[in-house]
Amino acid sequence: MLATVDALLPLSLLEAVRDVDTPEGVLEAEFVDELRNKRFGLSDTVYTQIKRYSEAVRKNQRTAQDEAVALARLIGRRPDAEAVLRAAGRYLAHEAYHTVPALTRTMVRVLPSFVARPMALRRVRRLAQRYLNANVRRVGTYVLLEVPRSVTLGVAPGSTGCTFYEATLRELMRLLVGATGAVEHTRCAGRGEGACEWRADWRSASV
Ligand SMILES: [Zn+2]
Repeated sequence: MLATVDALLPLSLLEAVRDVDTPEGVLEAEFVDELRNKRFGLSDTVYTQIKRYSEAVRKNQRTAQDEAVALARLIGRRPDAEAVLRAAGRYLAHEAYHTVPALTRTMVRVLPSFVARPMALRRVRRLAQRYLNANVRRVGTYVLLEVPRSVTLGVAPGSTGCTFYEATLRELMRLLVGATGAVEHTRCAGRGEGACEWRADWRSASV
């Protein structure tokens, strides 16, 4: 069976490229035209692809994993790859978080932790499964995210590619349960350790 990812994943990569490449402040239209030629994120290609993936997200269609990997590789060649990948992770987490019903989001914030934590964990697990093809489990005060088939593995020097998942987990935890402690990359497929795994400490979280 062809490996697929939720269309939100490639969309998050492109949204991040566009966001990073968009100059800050108000600009003259002609200056933007000039930039368009130099900045990939402002190109018509990216615009068209963002529309395509947004449509796919709306229709619940999945994308071939290879297509997402190709996009990640393109980003990995940029000198600012890490910044873009982290922005993409945050974008994905944000969009995923907003698929959680508002009432649930509020309950996780206001209920006592012995009720709220299991609820939050169930949500993280479901969102990670759907949007990252990842597994989530809890070990003591840690939440472990395991990604068997990373889209961003090895797309940039060292473990730079892995920062995408780290940023997603960090932001998802922040949104769900408030501030999170350290997020560590405890296992990496790039170091021959089978799968990539991250460990988030939520002892210090407000829930
Ligand atoms: Zn890794």
